[in-house]
Amino acid sequence: MASLSNFDDSKGLLQSQELYEYVLETAVYPREPEVLKELRALTANHPKSLMATAPDAGQQIALLLKMINAKKTIEIGVFTGYSLLLTALTIPQDGKITAIDMNKDTYEMGLPVIKKAGVEHKINFIQSPALTVLDELLENHENRGSFDFAFVDADKVNYQKYHERLWQLLKVGGIIVYDNTLWFGTVAMPEESTKEELKPGRLHTIEFNRFLAADNRFQISQVPLGDGITICRRL
Ligand code: SAM
Ligand code: CA
Repeated sequence: MASLSNFDDSKGLLQSQELYEYVLETAVYPREPEVLKELRALTANHPKSLMATAPDAGQQIALLLKMINAKKTIEIGVFTGYSLLLTALTIPQDGKITAIDMNKDTYEMGLPVIKKAGVEHKINFIQSPALTVLDELLENHENRGSFDFAFVDADKVNYQKYHERLWQLLKVGGIIVYDNTLWFGTVAMPEESTKEELKPGRLHTIEFNRFLAADNRFQISQVPLGDGITICRRL
């Protein structure tokens, strides 16, 4: 995930920059809370700003959170906190987010905006590799089947391992959203025409998408928002 900052994906997956901007300007930005705009602006200065969740995908995530009345959630891959703040703004006052990232510096970059939004009390940030935290959560049987929602936006190589653990942590009817499941559109490109830095992610994503399509423990929907998200509902 290192050098994606220079990758020309600013139009997302759509046919043209104009169309993507139309979607953002018409449906997304007018509804985006001011604090999320502020966090987006702050993140734009970061050399890896491209890692932040796309606002159109974020809007879909907020809708899902409301639809299932999510209260207890987990996030793998926080970066500066766009999806985290979005989740914290959407869940109820007594909602809780277990937010995991190996990097605390980027979380701290966005933290003043999270504090300003008055939602820090909903967040339990854990600096750690995510697999370790998921395994620890599973050791306590009370956590099993207790989470309403999970958002996964981290190392693609581990998505399947996260999936096996999240499946056990999630309630029946709970939702997992995976980000970047169309990987800059490269999943449908020949390997030879894929940029070198995108090749490993392309292969992991192709394999993971195939796996999800065959996983009958979940109802799924592949949505071409942002860089592609896959919505999985535990059956
Ligand atoms: N959702 C974030 C947002 O809206 O800004 C973007 C997350 S960014 C794409 C991926 C993050 O995953 C990085 O901050 C990185 O440090 C973290 N990460 C990568 N591998 C990880 C792992 N094995 N465990 C925990 N965090 C990891
Ligand atoms: Ca992402």
